[in-house]
Amino acid sequence: MATRPKVVIVGGGFGGLEAAKALRDAPVEVTLVDRRNHHVFQPLLYQVATAGLSPADIAEPLRRILRDQENVTVLLGEAERVDLAGKRLVLTDGEVPYDHLILACGASHSWFGHDEWAEHALGLKTLEDAREVRRRVLLAYERAERTEDAAERAALLTFVVIGGGPTGVEMAGAFAEIAHLTLARDFRRIDPHQARVHLIEAGPRLLPAFAEDLSAATKASLEKLKVTVHLNARVTAIAHDEVRFGDQTIAAKTILWAAGVQGAPIARTLGVELDRAGRVKVRPDFSLEGHPEVFVIGDMAALTDAKGVVVPGVCQGAMQAGKLVGKNLVRGLDGTAPEPFVYRDLGIMATIGRAHAVVQLPRFRFSGFFAWLFWAFLHVALLIGFDNRLVVMIEWMWAWFTFDRGARLITHERPHG
Ligand SMILES: Cc1cc2nc3c(=O)[nH]c(=O)nc-3n(C[C@H](O)[C@H](O)[C@H](O)COP(=O)(O)OP(=O)(O)OC[C@H]3O[C@@H](n4cnc5c(N)ncnc54)[C@H](O)[C@@H]3O)c2cc1C
Repeated sequence: MATRPKVVIVGGGFGGLEAAKALRDAPVEVTLVDRRNHHVFQPLLYQVATAGLSPADIAEPLRRILRDQENVTVLLGEAERVDLAGKRLVLTDGEVPYDHLILACGASHSWFGHDEWAEHALGLKTLEDAREVRRRVLLAYERAERTEDAAERAALLTFVVIGGGPTGVEMAGAFAEIAHLTLARDFRRIDPHQARVHLIEAGPRLLPAFAEDLSAATKASLEKLKVTVHLNARVTAIAHDEVRFGDQTIAAKTILWAAGVQGAPIARTLGVELDRAGRVKVRPDFSLEGHPEVFVIGDMAALTDAKGVVVPGVCQGAMQAGKLVGKNLVRGLDGTAPEPFVYRDLGIMATIGRAHAVVQLPRFRFSGFFAWLFWAFLHVALLIGFDNRLVVMIEWMWAWFTFDRGARLITHERPHG
């Protein structure tokens, strides 16, 4: 019996999983490599970071997701580099040969040339990041309760979010709600209402990918939640416990970075052209120039589609890419030419606190409470796993009526935290 072609997928995120599923009935052997044993639903990471949900609510083991797909083997491993000439994926502790390779490793933070800022600001990409943010925020309140030093207390109760995209907006809104609703009555010596939340955005408006009226509605909602929004404010320094922009300096013990992303570092091992954000410039079917057997998809890829649309770094972009690459691989097996990618914009949305969201669909847009309901139902529906959907729905309903956040645990002490 002829051996089946080996398809290796790196990354069990939105793109990689969709590619694996598209190969369900194909006569190929799929190996999916990920450094983590779970898929993370990143759009709800901010809820874990702000104690609204627990880590397991938004993650699902890759083995469980793929257990019924017999042509897939899942490997827990860290991919280090790609040997294009030798057609092998090199792991930190071994190697995997391939006939076809799909790289779907996502993105990492970009500190805009200031890698030293990473020491002072927290990023949000993984469950570990989210737990660390949660720990630092809750600890800040605990330390504020105990300190006798007024300046230190003020810095502990100041939360700075850098970057006015959806993650920054969602984090700032949640930080404000923690101060004014969740913790309002839990302390005796401090008044959590005194907490200050600053959202700093370099551009002239929040949510630049959305229509201008939605950006304005977002700013107004955040200000209603007592968030101070700084626009046209480019951060020039992040040092120990302070952020500088323009002629302002804010003393803050909790600084969250939601400003920039770049393609996953493994892209640099390919030796091909990358764009300014470290993403791989791919051909219209996501293949690598000169290597039709290698595909790069999702947040790692830079592509303007067949209709001239720049494919955005969002879940639907990665999923649609994964699906197309999987289908094209099947086509290739019987000699059919690959189809080029055409991005289908299904809409974008962001939530601001417990009762407001902005939703921009291809034909219409809306904001307010119904937008929030729409956002909530859609996110529950998109979660992987029936148990996750049920738990999240119940936790949100409980939080809605009680104003509480159930996952307020300080756990996971980092050695140098
Ligand atoms: C906080 C946050 C909020 C977001 N909110 C939204 C939103 O509301 N809506 C939206 O559409 N998009 C949102 N996004 C963006 C969206 O999550 C990404 O566009 C999407 O996840 C990209 O999919 P991907 O498959 O390219 O990468 P990912 O989903 O990031 O998956 C990458 C996978 O590769 C693995 N990996 C990486 N490097 C290696 C390696 N060297 N070896 C082995 N495994 C590796 C990782 O463990 C991970 O499982 C958000 C992102 C973040 C961080």
